[in-house]
Amino acid sequence: MPRIERFAVGPIDCQIVPDGVAMYDPADLAAGVPADQIIAALTVGVDEKGELAVPYNGLLIRVGGRVALVDAGLGAEGARQFGEPAGRLMDSLTASGITADQIDLVIISHAHLDHIGGLTVPADGGRVPVFARARHYFWQAEWDFWTSGHGLAQVPEELAEAARTHLPPLNQAGLVELVSQETEVLPGVRLLPAPGHTPGHMVVALTSGPDGALYLGDAVLDEANFTHPGWVSVYEWNPSMAVATRTALIDKAIAENRLLIAFHLAARGYAELTGGHYRLRHVGGQVPAARSQPGGASRSPATATNTPSSPAATSLGMFPDTGTARPARPGLASVAVS
Ligand SMILES: [Zn+2]
Repeated sequence: MPRIERFAVGPIDCQIVPDGVAMYDPADLAAGVPADQIIAALTVGVDEKGELAVPYNGLLIRVGGRVALVDAGLGAEGARQFGEPAGRLMDSLTASGITADQIDLVIISHAHLDHIGGLTVPADGGRVPVFARARHYFWQAEWDFWTSGHGLAQVPEELAEAARTHLPPLNQAGLVELVSQETEVLPGVRLLPAPGHTPGHMVVALTSGPDGALYLGDAVLDEANFTHPGWVSVYEWNPSMAVATRTALIDKAIAENRLLIAFHLAARGYAELTGGHYRLRHVGGQVPAARSQPGGASRSPATATNTPSSPAATSLGMFPDTGTARPARPGLASVAVS
């Protein structure tokens, strides 16, 4: 079990809630960019199969006696389908002494599989919300997209299936809260629109006096997005909008001196702009050591736990109408949580 990481933004207590790690083809981070350039920009090395370990990290927020969870991870079923050891967010909560019933708010940055898979579980022939007491916050456009036939028809079936599985039970239980403008959901905790990765992707700003943090969701997928903010992953719904949103959020964080946190970043820190280039100055988090020399081993197209046709190839989401090519990739594989 990873160590518990906590930090504070004034009276707002924050805790990283690890969901695990999954393996990705680094080429997916920057469509059209040569693999050696991508690997050279990575903070973390690729493994002997040429795969990049991508962390999944939810965020727990405690303020004013209330508890909010931001993003729900892959879920146990998703982990069985797409590759453990991701899907361990509930284990991380339990290890911290937090039960599902203690969560007052669930904030979902966007409705991709790795962020909503932990929201519901099977029960009595149907499905029930895991966080049964919690109000579940989505951006209106995100909810509308992922609950409409028009939206689901645009996405790979694996993503559509996840939305069909996990979203309706929340609605049936009367737990859904939709926002369509900047909204303060707890003291100092505001939801902001950040579209591009998905139609209604949102981020969470934490503010107390001069102190601030910004949870970026998937507006940044890897630290290489600071040095190369224009790189477009294969997962973006609207690539140009995603880049504009990412750049605006990094600029906002610099202007407002906000600590940056994101679901797929191993480290947190402050963005800096030097010589026309962004970088992330780390102040916390766990950056896994590089495990092998980049490019030092030949790529294996499949492992014992996955096949090239694994639906995990789209676990972060890729939209076929964006014009980005889907590269062949091995998908998820099992690695140990550091
Ligand atoms: Zn994600």
